[in-house]
Amino acid sequence: MKKHYNIPIFISHFGCPNACVFCNQKKINGRETDVTLEDLEKTIEEYLEILPENSYKEVAFFGGTFTGISMAKQKEYLEGVKKYIDKGFVQGIRLSTRPDYINKEVMDQLKKYHVTTIELGVQSFDEEVLKKSARYYPINMVYEACKMIKSYGINLGIQLMPGLPGSTFETDFESAKKAVAMQPENARVYPTLIIKETEMEEMYKRGEYEAFSLDEAVSRCRKICSLLEVNGINIIRVGLQPSDDLRNGGVAVEGAFHPAFRELVDGEIYFNFLEKIKIKDGFLNVKTNEKNVSKIVGIKKKNSERFGKFKLEIDNSLDISEIDVNGKRYFRKDILEKELSD
Ligand code: SF4
Repeated sequence: MKKHYNIPIFISHFGCPNACVFCNQKKINGRETDVTLEDLEKTIEEYLEILPENSYKEVAFFGGTFTGISMAKQKEYLEGVKKYIDKGFVQGIRLSTRPDYINKEVMDQLKKYHVTTIELGVQSFDEEVLKKSARYYPINMVYEACKMIKSYGINLGIQLMPGLPGSTFETDFESAKKAVAMQPENARVYPTLIIKETEMEEMYKRGEYEAFSLDEAVSRCRKICSLLEVNGINIIRVGLQPSDDLRNGGVAVEGAFHPAFRELVDGEIYFNFLEKIKIKDGFLNVKTNEKNVSKIVGIKKKNSERFGKFKLEIDNSLDISEIDVNGKRYFRKDILEKELSD
């Protein structure tokens, strides 16, 4: 299979009349200006110069509500990419948008221009949570949008945001279950952060929103990610991209940010699984492919310290999807299912 690359085009807040409490697009993606056709072409050309020729490339319109901009402007961007698709330099287009900005007219145009994936920023399937986040749409509208995207033969992506105002462990897990029922091809999970200069920051200052702690975020994401993966959904990302601004604390006020959030989640999933075996058997001898070592020992060897005495042996004849624990073979699916059954 050819390696996949995105050529990202951040269209910022352009075209978005909404004001979701968590959003300050400018702060997240670092762009403040709208993207011109020249910007678009320049970015594509720059990426084409450095990406391997024999790879699968998609121009990815992220950052805003692509289908919220005018049909004419959408067409201009899509035409801008089309010439690269026609020449075989780019293989498709992906974009992110809101579920309430999907309709037949929009979809007809997207299909015509080879849009291959639409990622819906659903965030939550709980209407109360959506209302409290100033991002309300009836859930039926989400279902309709998902079905319509699939009926056009376009890949569906669903973005979820655990930890929004009014959410609980249960509402977030329930949202993940409803997302799975829509059978998306892929998903992104972004635990909520309080970004500067957002309504959420004001809510936090007024004591109306409690920041999502890292432990709580990991604990919710463990279940959500396990459920998505067990159901064959490709999880593209867990946690916001660690931009320099985020790393340096210049953007997020509070919340569950960790530069290796996904590894943290995976490490906890493996810790819980192995710790139970250790308690039952009284010892822990693990054989694994070297690619799994970091999950087993955890970030900064956190798991190793918690296990105390245990034996870890590298055995690269084992597939990355399997580990041998105390002489018994387990597959990643077993580990994720155990996580879900606890
Ligand atoms: S999250 Fe999306 S829909 Fe909400 S305000 Fe930001 S750009 Fe607009």
